[in-house]
Amino acid sequence: MIQTTSFSDLGISGAILEAIEVLGFETPSAIQEQAIPVALGGADIVGLSHTGSGKTLAFAIPALECIDPDVNGVQVLTLCPTRELAVQICREVDKLALFLDGVSAVPIYGGASFKPQLDALNRGVQFVVGTPGRVMDLMESGALQLDNLRMLILDEADEMLDMGFLEDIEHIADAMPDERQTLFFSATMSPEINRLVGRFMDDPVQINIERPTLTVPTIEQIYYEVIFSSRIEALSRLLDTGKIKKGLVFANTKKVVDDIVDGLTARGYGVDRLHGDMPQIMRERVMESFRRGNLRMLVATDIAARGLDVDDVDSVVNFELPRDPEDYVHRIGRTARAGRKGKAVTFVGRRDFALLSRIERFIGVKLTEEPVLTASQVEQLRTESLVDEVLEKLNPDSQLPEELKEVEASPESLAVALFNLLREKTHREVQPIPEDRPMKTRRVRIDGNTEKGSHQKGDSWTPKGDTVTLFMNGGRMIGLRPKDIAGLFYNSVEMEKGAVGDIRIFGKHSLIEVDANVAPQLLEALATATICGYEVNVREDKGGMGSEPGSYRSSRHGGFRNGGRREHGQGERRGGRGDRRGGGRKDFGGERPRRKRY
Ligand code: AMP
Repeated sequence: MIQTTSFSDLGISGAILEAIEVLGFETPSAIQEQAIPVALGGADIVGLSHTGSGKTLAFAIPALECIDPDVNGVQVLTLCPTRELAVQICREVDKLALFLDGVSAVPIYGGASFKPQLDALNRGVQFVVGTPGRVMDLMESGALQLDNLRMLILDEADEMLDMGFLEDIEHIADAMPDERQTLFFSATMSPEINRLVGRFMDDPVQINIERPTLTVPTIEQIYYEVIFSSRIEALSRLLDTGKIKKGLVFANTKKVVDDIVDGLTARGYGVDRLHGDMPQIMRERVMESFRRGNLRMLVATDIAARGLDVDDVDSVVNFELPRDPEDYVHRIGRTARAGRKGKAVTFVGRRDFALLSRIERFIGVKLTEEPVLTASQVEQLRTESLVDEVLEKLNPDSQLPEELKEVEASPESLAVALFNLLREKTHREVQPIPEDRPMKTRRVRIDGNTEKGSHQKGDSWTPKGDTVTLFMNGGRMIGLRPKDIAGLFYNSVEMEKGAVGDIRIFGKHSLIEVDANVAPQLLEALATATICGYEVNVREDKGGMGSEPGSYRSSRHGGFRNGGRREHGQGERRGGRGDRRGGGRKDFGGERPRRKRY
């Protein structure tokens, strides 16, 4: 491709070029260079690009170009996940429209009064940027008319889907004129995104601006949700079972490096450390020992690991998430060298999900969650690997030692005794950790407003009738706690104590079991609510999105779930969005969002 060096080469009209000059942008970024001419040519686009790539201008310029200032009415609609982003996009659009008479962008989002947004729409704006929930509200109330729509833009589509807006987006796109152009931007791809693309786009041009060198495809990237004090044990289990053979462990501080080395040494593993302030001679000695295979693990900070070059590291362990996504890339690049396969294992705490998400967006890959190995899995895997070792030693020519021939025992009992001996020699007692009780951290029972702790089988939440499981956007990533959800629910609708049952909080969404009798009122009341600063998007759970690897799903209420579904009909929104009326969203969340836009 010919390198374009100027915005004027991209087919942009004079008024916008002038604004770009005023803004001081000299050369188009890669996504702008590739997307703008294609979009100006009228094609649909799927742009895979991260925040910071300049994608806002890449869609805002063609969007402004397609607006006919003489036509009153919305001609461009941009959907984006958050209020902050909607406002930011509008700011950029307004700057670009500096020399376009009477063209400006209006943000519409939940959690704010309808009045100013309605006024703006009534004035006849041409460019609307909104969050899906509020856009649906205004469409259904008739305030937002899309008959004149020429372009639909989805920005940060993956994030919108993570927040549970798939159905809303489909609903909005369904209501639009077929003769429109669709531009679609996302940092990552997923089957849901492919579904949207297949359904709503016409032979789109795919533009991929991911940084191809960020991660290596041969690195399997997984994470474990595990509290800090359990991490030495979780790591030991990976070592015991051979899931990690030779690894580099990264921590953020020298203190944690020392703690890891002490913890692993006490458990009998061959490990050493690299500190940034170690004399060079010591560093080299340790690295040489690691290279030769005398050490199984080397523990280091990011700075200390500079210049470390070892080819046969099968795993990199992020004992703590690095604060800078670039450090994550540098860390995991130490495995899968020289064409080998490699694994990146990351330990994540409850409060780390925003940072994890930032890293995922930076690398354009979602890490896979795995549950921490349980004691019985460790036993099982250890036995399997011992059996493998024994099988490797099998040799039809080998002779039984004379001493054993004299032993009066069956070959089978001899084999059992030898196997047990081998197992004892390599045995390490598994230490119990809270993660061994998955329900404790993943599933919390709520009675009234009181957090009761972990769910025990046979606990006494006995709803009077059927129950329904509700899906709600937002989970651990925005710092949501069961009591926030319980508070929101109980404050939204008058209902009896006990009407809210199990609350399960996942990374990005939550599942809440409620008495079927109150579900319709809840759906209606929550349609205009916010929690932790986010627009609430709640609907009946259809099961598909409800499970996450390693999450606990109740079977106790299986019958209720079906019962509830029959009662309400799948996907039906009784008293739902169509009934929404004015008023801002109620926010009962206890914490402000920790999650920022990246
Ligand atoms: P975005 O990825 O759209 O959020 O843009 C990231 C930042 O880059 C914003 O602050 C833009 O103002 C800036 N930006 C966008 N395009 C350019 C460009 N061609 N040259 C310099 N900065 C840009």
